[in-house]
Amino acid sequence: MAKSKTDPKPLKPATRLITAARDFSEHGIVSPAVYHASTVLYPTYEALKERKQPYQYGRRGTPTSRAVETAIATLENGYASKVSPSGLAAITTTLLAFLKPGDHLLMTDSVYAPVRVFCDNLLKNWGVVTEYYDPLLGGAISAFIRPSTRIVYCESPGSQTMEMQDIPAIAAVAHKAGALVVVDNTWSGGRYFNVFAHGGDISVHAATKYIVGHSDAMMGAITCSEATWPRFKEGYETMGQFAGPDDMYLTLRGLRTIDVRLERHMKSALLIAEWLKGRADVEEVIYPALPGSRGHEIWKRDFTGASGLFSVVLKAQTEAALSQFLDGLELFSMGYSWGGFESLCVPFKPHRSAKPWAREGTCLRFHIGLEDPDDLIADLTSGFERLKIAT
Ligand SMILES: *Cc1c(COP(=O)(O)O)cnc(C)c1O
Repeated sequence: MAKSKTDPKPLKPATRLITAARDFSEHGIVSPAVYHASTVLYPTYEALKERKQPYQYGRRGTPTSRAVETAIATLENGYASKVSPSGLAAITTTLLAFLKPGDHLLMTDSVYAPVRVFCDNLLKNWGVVTEYYDPLLGGAISAFIRPSTRIVYCESPGSQTMEMQDIPAIAAVAHKAGALVVVDNTWSGGRYFNVFAHGGDISVHAATKYIVGHSDAMMGAITCSEATWPRFKEGYETMGQFAGPDDMYLTLRGLRTIDVRLERHMKSALLIAEWLKGRADVEEVIYPALPGSRGHEIWKRDFTGASGLFSVVLKAQTEAALSQFLDGLELFSMGYSWGGFESLCVPFKPHRSAKPWAREGTCLRFHIGLEDPDDLIADLTSGFERLKIAT
């Protein structure tokens, strides 16, 4: 494989996103080709025996997969990356690659809910013990470490309840006990939080969200430190992981513009979060980038920016009033996922087992898209008027 142009580090992150993996392109065409491949031919018997050629079989890598993986490793400042068919697959593949029966997994209580289902069913059946911990523990997580603790899993901020985790403090404790730290870095887009510089060993992503950025493809990404790469890669290959070529291409295409998109998401989200904060019907805005929000101190210390996803706790509402608010919105749509160009708003009920979510109010999660924020505020203003009439 050709050496990537990403290697000289002095380039700033925005520039590196543009130059990363460009040497996979051919014929002067700016983007690499989309290779649909299963069979890769060997010219001679000798070549077949030696398997020395860079590409050997579709699942083992194509110029398309290598380009997107190289670009993601560049984005994350990691050693190397792999992609998977979804963010959930990225997470499960990582956990399965490192855990064995008898191991103890410390899982943040704020984790993306389908991961909880995976741990409580499949991992449990295979003899792995998952223990959920309060995401705000920081270094006090030491009380939960056992000799069998293999992984401490973090998601910061939690994608619904937005707890900011003290990853450096958690990593210091985990490493002392010989455990690995896996971080779901989806919220930062990979652009605004460097997992490896803050003590993490593996970064996992729902690239489906900001990296793809257009709500038109599913993709997961896993980036490893040098030390964790061989074991991860072996597990990934053994489990037959790969991803479709067209979706890999869309991922690389999205990644080229993530810097400008995130900047706009953040600018509009800050404006709207600030506007929401002042409203009588809003109990709390939880957006770590917003001064005064819970988690703001850690965000300021560890992150270089914010995405457009945040949550709001409304004063307790009836279901009927909530329907009036949500169903009449014209620019905010209801739907899971986030990170695309469009604004979204979904109600949610936090799932907790380590520590109860002791709040009465109705929780809403907003994704602020790339629309003009004035139009978004007008849409919300009408929503709050409907809410008031219905209450
Ligand atoms: C969406 C999401 C995932 C899962 O990604 P998919 O591509 O939908 O499988 C994982 N983690 C977080 C934080 C997410 O928001």
